[in-house]
Amino acid sequence: MENVSPTHKELINVMKNARRVFVFTGAGVSKESGLPTFRDDDGLWKKFDPMTMATPEAFRENPVVVWNMYRIRQTQVLSAQPNPAHKTLAQMEQFYPDFLLATQNVDDLHERAGSRRMVKIHGNALEMRCLDCVTIFDVREFSFPEEFTQDTLPRCTKCGGLCRPNIVWFGEYVPQEPMMAAVRSAANCDLMLIIGTSGEVSGGYGFAEYALANGAAIVDVNPGRGALTRYARFWVSEPAGSALPQMWQEVTKNIAEG
Ligand SMILES: [Zn+2]
Repeated sequence: MENVSPTHKELINVMKNARRVFVFTGAGVSKESGLPTFRDDDGLWKKFDPMTMATPEAFRENPVVVWNMYRIRQTQVLSAQPNPAHKTLAQMEQFYPDFLLATQNVDDLHERAGSRRMVKIHGNALEMRCLDCVTIFDVREFSFPEEFTQDTLPRCTKCGGLCRPNIVWFGEYVPQEPMMAAVRSAANCDLMLIIGTSGEVSGGYGFAEYALANGAAIVDVNPGRGALTRYARFWVSEPAGSALPQMWQEVTKNIAEG
């Protein structure tokens, strides 16, 4: 342990002593599972510009194109696997009495890694909802064609209405219930972890400000500096997939040693 810096020791101590933990994750975590982010200049988002395609206007004008974009996304999500960052967060949830993970990711990798006390604030790529009766469906319960046409677009099994991906698109409000839960957790936490997100979307929803106002320690695990890094007491400038398991191993070792 000689080569461990005091700051790092302090970080491990803060994580060890925390009781009320709020975690805020974003695309960086999924990227390590091979899911490209909006900002990545390759694959799906090169073919489709998310700023124009992931909007309610685009869906109104051309639902077939938008649906086919999400068909590709769904296939990508279903073939991706949770990485060590997802798995470590699921382990951490078992340890802390008060814990909430709020993710901006629309994939299900946190869930598949075992996270349960969590909310999705940008929707779910594996869900669709009826534009008429607002019923939400799991797309895995349907056998969709590889590519949709106007005649084969997903329809509600209850009312026959057109369904759309259950995603929060650009220019849309985030759903109130998960957002309120996230704000409550942020405002009450003593430790906030920011993982794989620059916090640029809607200023990180003010989560970091709520946490700070409660005197929480903020830990930012991101290879690059983001909009929320200035709030962090500790900035771990590494990919979460390698940094987080290492940090957590030290915390649990520390606990075992008393
Ligand atoms: Zn319906």
